Order: sequence, then C-alpha cells, then structure tokens
Amino acid sequence: MVFKNLIGGKDVPASDGMLLDVVSPVDGVLFAKIASGTAQDVDAAVKAARNAFEGAWGRLTATERGRLLMKLAAIVEAHADELTALESRDNGKPLRQSHADAVALARYFEYYGSAADKLHGDVIPYLNTHFIGVERVPHGVTGHIVPWNYPLQIFGRSVGAALAAGNATVVKPAEDASLTILRVSALAREVGFPDGAINLVTGLGRTAGAALAAHPGIDFLSFTGSPETGTAVQTAAAKNHVGVTLELGGKSAQIVFDDADIERALPSLVNAIIQNGGQTCSAGSRLLIQRGIFEDVVNAVAERFRALRAGHPEREPDLGPMINQAQQRRVLGYLDRARNEGLTVMGEGVVAIDAPAEGFYVPPVFFAPVPHQSMLSQEEVFGPVLVATPFEDEAEAIRLANGTPYGLAAGVWTRDAMRSTRVARSMRAGQVFVNCYGAGGGIELPFGGFGRSGHGREKGFEGLIEFTTTKTLVMAHG
Ligand code: NAP
Repeated sequence: MVFKNLIGGKDVPASDGMLLDVVSPVDGVLFAKIASGTAQDVDAAVKAARNAFEGAWGRLTATERGRLLMKLAAIVEAHADELTALESRDNGKPLRQSHADAVALARYFEYYGSAADKLHGDVIPYLNTHFIGVERVPHGVTGHIVPWNYPLQIFGRSVGAALAAGNATVVKPAEDASLTILRVSALAREVGFPDGAINLVTGLGRTAGAALAAHPGIDFLSFTGSPETGTAVQTAAAKNHVGVTLELGGKSAQIVFDDADIERALPSLVNAIIQNGGQTCSAGSRLLIQRGIFEDVVNAVAERFRALRAGHPEREPDLGPMINQAQQRRVLGYLDRARNEGLTVMGEGVVAIDAPAEGFYVPPVFFAPVPHQSMLSQEEVFGPVLVATPFEDEAEAIRLANGTPYGLAAGVWTRDAMRSTRVARSMRAGQVFVNCYGAGGGIELPFGGFGRSGHGREKGFEGLIEFTTTKTLVMAHG
C-alpha cells in the first residue's frame, strides 16, 4: 500500500517523490509507505485550503456544512470495522480500543455537525443610536498537527470542530499513524466535501510539521503532542501572530481517601493507566493513597497488575505494543532507572508468549511506595507504568496532586461529598473526576490543561468556539 498526500482534492506524491516506510508495531513488519511531505507540499496544501475557504467551501451555509459532517459521521460509522482493523495494524491498539476510537470519531462529526448552525453571536445594547452585533466567524485556514496515540479521535475533535466553524484545514498526522486519517479524508471526499476543505500532508514532524507551524498562510493552529514540540510550534506561530491551542502531556493523579469505595475504584485505578498502553496524555499515572489504607490498596492494585497481559491486538490483550521501537526503549529505560533507584515493583504483568518477537511490547509495571520527587512521579513516561505514594491528610493530598508541572486530569475517590467538592475544586487540572475516572473522556466535555499540559480547550462546545474569532459590527441608525 502506498499513500499520497491529499491536496486540493487530489492524491499527490511528495514534491520530491520521497516515501516513508510504515512499520507495524504489532510485528515489526513493513506493510505500507506514505508520502514524505515537504515544505513545498505544505505550501501547496495551504494554498488549496485558502482557495476552498474563499471559494466553494466558504460559500456553504453553516447548515450545509453541518449536513456534510453528519454524512461523514454516517460513512465513518459504516466503515468502523475497516478503520478498526487498519488502526490496530498501523498503531497496535487492541481491536476494542480501535473500534471505540472509530465510533468516537463518528460521534465527533455528529456532535460538531449538529452544532455548526447553532454558533451564534451577540447583540450589545450599548448605545440607543447604534446597532452593535458580535459575530462568530471562522479563523480562515487552520493547521492541525496530530499525534500518534489517538489519531482518529484527535482528528475528529480538532478537524471536526474547525470544519463545523467554517475553516478550511491542513492536517499533518504523525508519521507513525497516518493511515486511518488518510482513509477518513478519502471518505470525506466521497460524501461531497469540496476540494481543499481538508488537506493532508503526511511525513516527518521536523519537516512537514515544522513547515505547517511556520507557514504565514495559516490563521490558527491546533497542536496535540509533547510539551517540547508544543513550545517549538507556539514559537513558530508567534512569528506569524496567530493563535494556537496546545494539548500537551500529563502526570495525572487519582487521590484515594480512606473512606473510598475501594472495590468500585479498583478497575478505574488500573484501567486509567492501562488504556492504550499508558500512551494517553490524561492517563492516571499516579495514585495518591491515604496512609491507613495504603498497604491494602497497593496489594489489591498489584494483584490486578499481575494478571495483565500485553499482546497482539487481535487476541484481546489488556494492552497492545508501544507505538514504535523508540517508545518501547524509552519505557524500558524508565523501568531500568526506577529499579536502579531502588523503587519496589509491587506488581508486574506479562508480555504474552505468543506476542510477535519483532513487535514493540513492554510489560505493565506498578511501583510502590514511590517518593513524590522521584523521576517516576514527576516525568511523563507515556507507557503502562503506575506509581503509588502515601499521604496523611487532605492538605497533603492536594499538594501532591498539584505538585508536578502538568495539570491535565485528576481523580478523587471518597464517600464524603463535602470533601470531594473541596478537593475537586482545589485541583489544578482541566478535568476532575469524582468517584470515576474517564481519562480525557467525553466528546461533549471541554478538555485541556494547565501549565505544562498546555492551553486552550478542545472537545465540547468550547472546542468549537476555539476555532472561531469574533467580529464586532457597529451600525449607526440612519
Ligand atoms: P510529538 O513528538 O510532539 O509529536 C506530535 C506531532 O507533532 C506529530 O504529528 C509530530 O510528527 C509533530 N512534530 C514533531 N516535531 C515537530 C516540529 N518540530 N514541528 C511541528 N510538528 C512536529 O508528540 P508524540 O510523541 O507524538 O505524542 C506524545 C505526546 O503527546 C505526549 O507528551 C502526550 O502526553 C501528548 N499528547 C497530548 C494529548 C492531549 O490532548 N493533551 C493527546 C495525545 C498526546 P511526527 O510524529 O511525524 O514526528
């Protein structure tokens, strides 16, 4: 399989004809090639988007845009099984996770499609002699830099919202997970999106991604990825005076008080780090457990960890492989360093014996107790590695939970309603869950971070508003 860029409604090779190998993390097999997009390709894509914005796409009414997104939702749903298989091959996710992502993608298009013609402005009754209206208008051409961990969902939440608001888009998927985004963009053509409304340039981040971030023809940028790349993207965008949303990393904590319903909490305490192999920005990677129940909860979590199995996505594992060899080595490196620092492994899962030897698998590992200042408590591993730290009282729990540079999500487990409200409101995190944990969850819920987790919001209606700006009309009465 050889995939090309999508520019102005046409499949085009990279301007220099170069291709990149696509290796499946499942078994290390090279199974496709994608275009290695150049700065010239990005330039052509931005021009095609501008033509669409000023032409056929820009002329559609909000209702017409919404209907197209609803059609896209329907065709994505009809192709959910195909997208599931392709995503698991390309990305290594267990089939059930890929399927959930495909269904979520359809839901994003449905949500933003139905919201497109409900984005209205305001009238300001400031002067009797004038009519003053505030309109919500699209930015124009938006750039979208997407990571590999949830390509379908992140494409849906960012490109779906941008299109609903009336922008024309240029997308740079991650080189390790471009295939399903390419397929969905082909489906968008099938349902009648005008040429140039969605443009895709695949390839290397440092080439195609950097060219997109720095392109003067981009009016707004949406970036999801690491804090380091986010800084580079924001710096490039600042030179063109354009806004950026940054959805970055996390080191999210779940606080377990001694009155919590532990049986109810346990599945969430484990799943929050195991989902997608821990390669989730809002993964619950830290447990803060009140001293009196520390040992019991740690033992119960450890027992669950010992039953976990990393394996082939088609064999219903708890987690699949890491996305690539570099990520596998990074996680194994963290495990080695933690052991060398003397941290205690309380529970370790296995890599299934039938997992392909050439795949990029790692075992899930749970360390406890782990000091708050240790590397594993402070740095985002982006793998299936969980740590637990004891705390004495509410004040210490809040201090520890907020005690990293990140602030993406948090969980609070207690039966005390007053305490849960107090603690939840003290969390410096974009989403807080009480007696549940839906890492990053909810298409309808605003999502984004504080501090090193980024700024701006995606998902929900707030995510739609991010892809607009306001224009104030002041009209004197005759
Ligand atoms: P990454 O290396 O920053 O890559 C993200 C995207 O940026 C990819 O498309 C990448 O392309 C591109 N890129 C790389 N270098 C670039 C540059 N110099 N200029 C412009 N674009 C460039 O991050 P990742 O390793 O894929 O993802 C892991 C990180 O993303 C973690 O920190 C995770 O927490 C975060 N994340 C956050 C969220 C959220 O919503 N908050 C969601 C998912 C992931 P290539 O891949 O082709 O290099």
